[in-house]
Amino acid sequence: MAILIFFVCHWYLSLFGQTFYLHRYAAHKMFTMSKAWEKFFYIFAWVMQGSSYLNARAYAILHRMHHAYSDTEKDPHTPHFFKEVFTMMMHTREIYNGVHHGTIQVEEKFDRNFPVYPAIDRIADAWPTRLIFGISYVVFYYFFANYWWEYLLLPIHFLMGPVHGAIVNWAGHKYGYRNFDEKDHSKNTLVFDFLMLGELFQNNHHHEGSKPNFAANWWEFDPVFPIIRLLDFIGVIKLVRM
Ligand SMILES: [Zn+2]
Ligand SMILES: [Zn+2]
Repeated sequence: MAILIFFVCHWYLSLFGQTFYLHRYAAHKMFTMSKAWEKFFYIFAWVMQGSSYLNARAYAILHRMHHAYSDTEKDPHTPHFFKEVFTMMMHTREIYNGVHHGTIQVEEKFDRNFPVYPAIDRIADAWPTRLIFGISYVVFYYFFANYWWEYLLLPIHFLMGPVHGAIVNWAGHKYGYRNFDEKDHSKNTLVFDFLMLGELFQNNHHHEGSKPNFAANWWEFDPVFPIIRLLDFIGVIKLVRM
């Protein structure tokens, strides 16, 4: 039971850090927040991602490239040029590393307006830190696992961010229905996206990239949008538009 709770918490908290902070805030600037909250959520997103930490600048740049070149050869993660998801993810990883380490030239329009905290990154992005997170997952399992097969979940903890990326980027541009006739292959995979916290409304999101609610019809539900509304209401963030 403890393992299941730990897994579910890690899955959703890491995903929340990605969709709320990296995607909707860092990449799209759907809302604003004070410097203090920005730093708080930067650290929150790091700790929740743990061993698979993604840098906000590199994430924002890759994501803006994805919107600008969706499902073309310049898209960092389209499923339409790869036979299976693993090769697509290795390709994305290569571009991420190139952008992050400056070996790939980035178009100027993508390379601005995102949170940057080099002092936090020096710790978060370091291999010893990633290793400590990885070991802490193993230690938790050592104390709380009751069955051997529970250990099969450990690799998902180690690679939580890329696992989420693989599901969203592959399924979201391949499986589901469309509300809008976009030029790409974006799809809405679920009508109630309980699995990926709204990220699987790719077709809706590509239609209106700056809209904070990823659901477009009354029968669709993006679980993160009510949280965004609440954070706006209590003054933690300020929505740019509704
Ligand atoms: Zn997309
Ligand atoms: Zn987006």
